[in-house]
Amino acid sequence: MRVDVLGVSFDNITPEEAVDRALAMLEEDRPHLVATPNPEMIQRAEKDPAFARVLSEADLVLADGIGVIYAAKILGRPLKGRVTGVDFASALMERLAGTDRRLFLLGAKPGVAEEAAKRLAARYPGLNICGAHDGYFQDDAPVIEAVRASGADVVFVCLGFPKQELWAAAHGAEAGAKLYVGLGGSLDVFAGKVERAPEKMQKLGLEWLYRLYKEPARIGRMAKLPLILFQALGARLKGK
Ligand code: UDP
Repeated sequence: MRVDVLGVSFDNITPEEAVDRALAMLEEDRPHLVATPNPEMIQRAEKDPAFARVLSEADLVLADGIGVIYAAKILGRPLKGRVTGVDFASALMERLAGTDRRLFLLGAKPGVAEEAAKRLAARYPGLNICGAHDGYFQDDAPVIEAVRASGADVVFVCLGFPKQELWAAAHGAEAGAKLYVGLGGSLDVFAGKVERAPEKMQKLGLEWLYRLYKEPARIGRMAKLPLILFQALGARLKGK
């Protein structure tokens, strides 16, 4: 079942259900997109029809960010819970390890995807990482070819939004993989460049506060976030 939160439809599922769905997609011979929208992405989709369309056509839309959960609650359509991109990707890698499915890491600054590959291979023994490429390319063709030549089944596309979702939608079929997961800054986390909040803060839904503490320059971007809660309240009061 999908739940509309200010124009973006989210799958109302647990992390385990999400991973099961993703694995089932690997059995189908077509490209699939998993998106992990946060409030900033909802706000972007409101004024960017191409991005909104790609999100609406995504095969799995997971609620990344406590703001989405609060907005859904205010709208009277509560979601089962948050499924962050990093948690989803981690659970997926655990299940891919020991299978012959291949994973390609695309995105972040030069060297980061390779470092992430090294660390992930150590963390998930038997995980088949078939390639890595940075996210600062000008020309799509060599990147599409690198993914295709690697025989990847799954690609973590970490180019930031909306670029990663648009890239997967535009080039996914040609690059040949079956599952593209838009994961923002996750490769920086997997490579150890960016720390996640301590687990206690994550559980309290305060990951955003930790991120702000680590990267105060984000204050401008984050200042817009409470807006989504007022929008949700407005929509609820109007009976939408
Ligand atoms: N990035 C990239 N290519 C670009 C722009 C960004 O690979 O052209 C990467 C950037 O290095 C970072 C990620 O995309 O690793 C976006 O991270 P951010 O934390 O801004 O994304 P969020 O997780 O908030 O969506």
